[in-house]
Amino acid sequence: MSEDTQTAPEALTFADLGLSPKVLSAVTDAGYTQPTPIQAGAIPHALQGKDVLGIAQTGTGKTASFVLPMLTRLEKGRARARMPRTLILEPTRELAAQVEENFVKYGKNHRLNIALLIGGVSFDEQEKKLERGADVLIATPGRMLDHFERGKLLLTGVEILVIDEADRMLDMGFIPDIERICKLIPFTRQTLFFSATMPPEITKLTEQFLHAPVRVEVAKAASTAVNITQRLAKSGPKPWDKRETLRRLIKAEGDEIKNAIIFCNRKVDVSELFRSLVKHDFDAGALHGDMDQRARMTMLSNFRDGKLRLLVASDVAARGLDIPDVSHVFNYDVPIHAEDYVHRIGRTGRAGRSGKSFTIATRSDTKYVDAIEKLIGNKIEWHDGDLSTVVASEGDDEAPRRGRGAPRRAGGKDKPGRERDRRPRDEAPVVEAAAIVAAEAPADNVVADINERRERKEAIRNGNADRKHREHEDRPRRDDHRGNRRHQREEEDDRTVGFGDDMPAFMLIATNI
Ligand code: AMP
Repeated sequence: MSEDTQTAPEALTFADLGLSPKVLSAVTDAGYTQPTPIQAGAIPHALQGKDVLGIAQTGTGKTASFVLPMLTRLEKGRARARMPRTLILEPTRELAAQVEENFVKYGKNHRLNIALLIGGVSFDEQEKKLERGADVLIATPGRMLDHFERGKLLLTGVEILVIDEADRMLDMGFIPDIERICKLIPFTRQTLFFSATMPPEITKLTEQFLHAPVRVEVAKAASTAVNITQRLAKSGPKPWDKRETLRRLIKAEGDEIKNAIIFCNRKVDVSELFRSLVKHDFDAGALHGDMDQRARMTMLSNFRDGKLRLLVASDVAARGLDIPDVSHVFNYDVPIHAEDYVHRIGRTGRAGRSGKSFTIATRSDTKYVDAIEKLIGNKIEWHDGDLSTVVASEGDDEAPRRGRGAPRRAGGKDKPGRERDRRPRDEAPVVEAAAIVAAEAPADNVVADINERRERKEAIRNGNADRKHREHEDRPRRDDHRGNRRHQREEEDDRTVGFGDDMPAFMLIATNI
């Protein structure tokens, strides 16, 4: 049971919603006693076969709001080969896999065939499942269309279509695919449509493809997380300064850390920090866009099961994932976008528990810290003295120049060799790791990087983005269906600016029910 899921205000039970005994028994076994607002609002209508427009973020219990009525409705009828009875579209592999887990959990009393069509899994295996006849098909749009184009899939038997996280599909340039898929499915189908926000493009889509939908909304409200102790931790500017600061913080918190997420702004730093922590014997894992599907899922389940204590992650890699409440959040980097700070710290202190967050800040982070404090409407306390006590190091471009003022190299950068020479003795060398990740993604200027992403996102919104710029849905090229999976798209490049789909629980209230 998730701690960040609010329940419906009135004493409504699952039995009141009209779900079948088999489903009710699985819900009881899952430990849920009361439906959440989105479940209470959507399930009765979904059971009656009506179209539903659910406006809700991850964390509100929205997955069960479509999985439970679907299971009840699927009890009648059988699947035929290559003709799935229901289709659920998800923007990313992780979300698709999470939905599958939900079907397994709540469908334990049913004998349903579930097929998952996502990148990173062999076509053959997926085709076998389709051939057997799928009651539930869960897919990312690109991979689903690839199967369709290979002639392995007929969509004419789909009775229920679910489009989940529609606004994220928009951000990722999937809307043309969604439109195409909607047209391939009989119009007599039922459509359950979910989106955290309703930008005009999404409204247009719902007007085009939903029939008299029932609108169920779980809206957000801004409030502050009073139960999260937030601290800033000063650091020198160099990566080894920051790594050292982080290790010091982790050690000082000791056993108070049950589990923690450590956020970095860039995946290049996720890799480097992860390797450094492991070298220093910390029990750490990492989650970033370059990892293959299996590695991500293993990492995540190890963290969920408590086998890993620390998880180093980027914002996008962690977004939308059902990660349990953590005792600590460390911001290895101050987030460039203040909203990301709210998302990050919202991973701790759920359900009234206490949580702690530490944000490592250097002199050059001051403007980002200011923006965060402005957004949350509070000053964040310094843990151990503010930045005025940090001794400016040589080569600190942000620090006032000291000494004889030796001329800088063009561009103001130090030679990498000199940087390494100044590394403190107790800092384990991560040169090898740094070289590997540098090859994966050049360590370019973060702000320029973000601007480029914004521009690309803009291009996606305008419909001019190249297909190859889509998120990590690795799919074969359309001109080469037999082989060569194209290199996976960097997920960080598609990051959304703003709260997107992942509004923390403390910022949610239920309305409209
Ligand atoms: P979702 O918004 O679908 O990602 O769900 C967020 C979390 O809430 C998941 O961990 C679910 O298992 C959990 N959850 C779903 N429904 C309920 C409920 N009625 N009561 C408590 N937790 C729930």
